[in-house]
This record gives sequence, C-alpha cells and structure tokens, in this order.
Amino acid sequence: MDQDGIPGALFFNLNKDSPFSFKCQVCGACCHNKAIQVAPYEALRLARRLGISTTEFYRTSTEEGGTILRNKPDGSCIFLTAGGCDVYPDRPLVCRLFPLGQISDEEGREKYAAMPLHPDCLGLFGEDETVGSYLDAQETGPYFHYDMLYTAVYKKMPARLKTAGYETSETGTCSDSGPRDVRSSPQNILSNWFDIDRTVALFCRQHGRKEPKSLEETVSLHLEAIEAWLQAF
Ligand code: SF4
Ligand code: SF4
Repeated sequence: MDQDGIPGALFFNLNKDSPFSFKCQVCGACCHNKAIQVAPYEALRLARRLGISTTEFYRTSTEEGGTILRNKPDGSCIFLTAGGCDVYPDRPLVCRLFPLGQISDEEGREKYAAMPLHPDCLGLFGEDETVGSYLDAQETGPYFHYDMLYTAVYKKMPARLKTAGYETSETGTCSDSGPRDVRSSPQNILSNWFDIDRTVALFCRQHGRKEPKSLEETVSLHLEAIEAWLQAF
C-alpha cells in the first residue's frame, strides 16, 4: 500500500472498532526471512515453553544480541516445523498481530494497518469481526501490558546511565556479568538486564528473596530488580 505517495508506506487507518477479519491457512510461508523481535516477556514465555532458562533461550534461539529470533540456514524461523509453529501458544506478539501492524499516535491512541502479505499467502481478509476482537482472539493483552511496563522502566535507563557517566547501547550479548561487573562493560549494560532469569536469580541472592514460581511473579520481580538497580545509581 502507498500513503502520501510513498511506495511501501502503510495506511494506519484502522482502530479497534474497525471491521476486520483474517483467516490464516497456516501454510508457514510468512515464517521465513523475518526479524521477529523478542522483548523480555516474550523471551520468558518462549523459554518456559521450551523448558529452559531465559539465559539458555537467548544463547540457543536468538541473534542480534538477543533482540530477534534466530532463523535457520534456509531462512525459516527456528521454531517453524513441518507441523507449523512449534511454540504457537507462546509465539511472540508480532506473530500474533500479523497481518496487522500497530502504532501509537502523539496522544497515545493506537492505530492499526493491514500489512502486506507474503506473495504465496493464502490467507483471507474479511470484515466479519473487528480489529479489537481479532486482537482478543490472538491473546495479545498480556503482551501489550508488559510491553507498556517495560517501556516505562527502560525509558528511565539511558538518562540514569548517562548521569552515572556511561554511554549506552541498545544491543549486545547476554554475558555472564552481574550488575557490578556490567559496570566494566557499559556497551552491554542494558541487554544484560533483558535476561529475566539471570537478573531475578541475582536479585534474589543479593536481597535474600525467594525465587518466584509463576510467570507473573517472575516478571514483577524482574521489574523490581531493574528499578532497584536504577535507584542505586
Ligand atoms: S515464532 Fe512461530 S509464528 Fe512466529 S515466525 Fe516463528 S514459527 Fe512463525
Ligand atoms: S503466509 Fe498467510 S496463510 Fe500462510 S501462515 Fe502466513 S498468514 Fe497464514
């Protein structure tokens, strides 16, 4: 689609009440050659599905400093199998949204656009339901909720680190450094803290807290750990 005469630009002209439906035929064509982003909550969900820690998940299943899912040599997503998505109940937000794209305008209002489809896509657009009901059916609620909480915390980070005299980087690998050691490696200072299991385990050890059991408790403690760390700067 074009917008304002710009080739490839999208029309974000839908809202939650707009008529919209899409019937995916689960062919997997769109699970190739994509940079599927993974935020901390998404990494935790995927790690729990795989029965591994987030530290192991970042090592085995991501690239670009833990920010996107790894692709196999043929370009397919690491989780795509002959039977479809192997992690479907815990697939990332972008996989749930597709074929919708979302932005927020200056007033924080969410707007949506129908994304271009893969040339081989057999999916069918319709107007039987609404954007809102599509999002509900895809169970996007917790993903948006935690994205909002993490965004609020991470927004504070660059200013805090700058005040403390560090240059920050958006990406990097998840090293074995704890927060003290991270001080000697400021280029990884943000990405180290994306690793929920590592951060929570360290926080619990340092503060004599019990390690959380549920997903919600784990995320809550992760956010608390980051806030405490920022306060300590
Ligand atoms: S996580 Fe699943 S749905 Fe998303 S790109 Fe990979 S295989 Fe496809
Ligand atoms: S290419 Fe289209 S039909 Fe195939 S899995 Fe992706 S959205 Fe569904």
